[in-house]
Amino acid sequence: MTTCGFSLEHYAELLGAARAGGYRFAHFDEIPKPGDLLLRHDVDLSLDAARRMAELEAREGASATYFLMTDSVFYNLASSEGVDAVTRLRELGHRVGLHAVHPNAVLDDRFDPVVAWHNPDPAYMTAPIPDAVNVMEATYFDPATYRSDSNQRWRSGCPHDELRESAFPWLQLLTHPEIWVYRGTTMGETMRSMLDDERERRLAQLAADRIDLA
Ligand SMILES: [Zn+2]
Ligand SMILES: [Zn+2]
Repeated sequence: MTTCGFSLEHYAELLGAARAGGYRFAHFDEIPKPGDLLLRHDVDLSLDAARRMAELEAREGASATYFLMTDSVFYNLASSEGVDAVTRLRELGHRVGLHAVHPNAVLDDRFDPVVAWHNPDPAYMTAPIPDAVNVMEATYFDPATYRSDSNQRWRSGCPHDELRESAFPWLQLLTHPEIWVYRGTTMGETMRSMLDDERERRLAQLAADRIDLA
């Protein structure tokens, strides 16, 4: 009996269920085929959480697409931390796409030509994007073959049983690393765990920047 918490332990169980169900890890560069599992991560808040999830996936033999923001309030992709994150994700065998704030979808050589809009409005959510794949366009998105953990709630339930039973012909599975890496039974608790962790990281960054913390 599996308990469906939002933890890296259960995320590993989800990957195990997908393997048991015979799914193969696919990306947004080919039309989904039967048996494909497209692991999508929108990185809204924490590159550190993304890196931790990416390392777990690599240990489990899984490959995902990480969508990173260039205009986040929460992290700076142009900083050394951001540059290192992109390098590390690619080293681990993952793809990197752009998590864009509409209408700004400027792709540069850090990104594969694939875009996931952050908090999209229905008006443009599924519309094609010139020279890039929109992960929500009809080729890649159908409500029957899509699950998302938004705000720590599965709208149609945790998919681990259906993955194990090969119930999906294929699946786009959107998960947010912060929700799985930081602990909490609600989104509010999880965000507070993230901020506690962030405080420690910030203090270390201040020390590295020669700030006297005595
Ligand atoms: Zn579950
Ligand atoms: Zn987002």
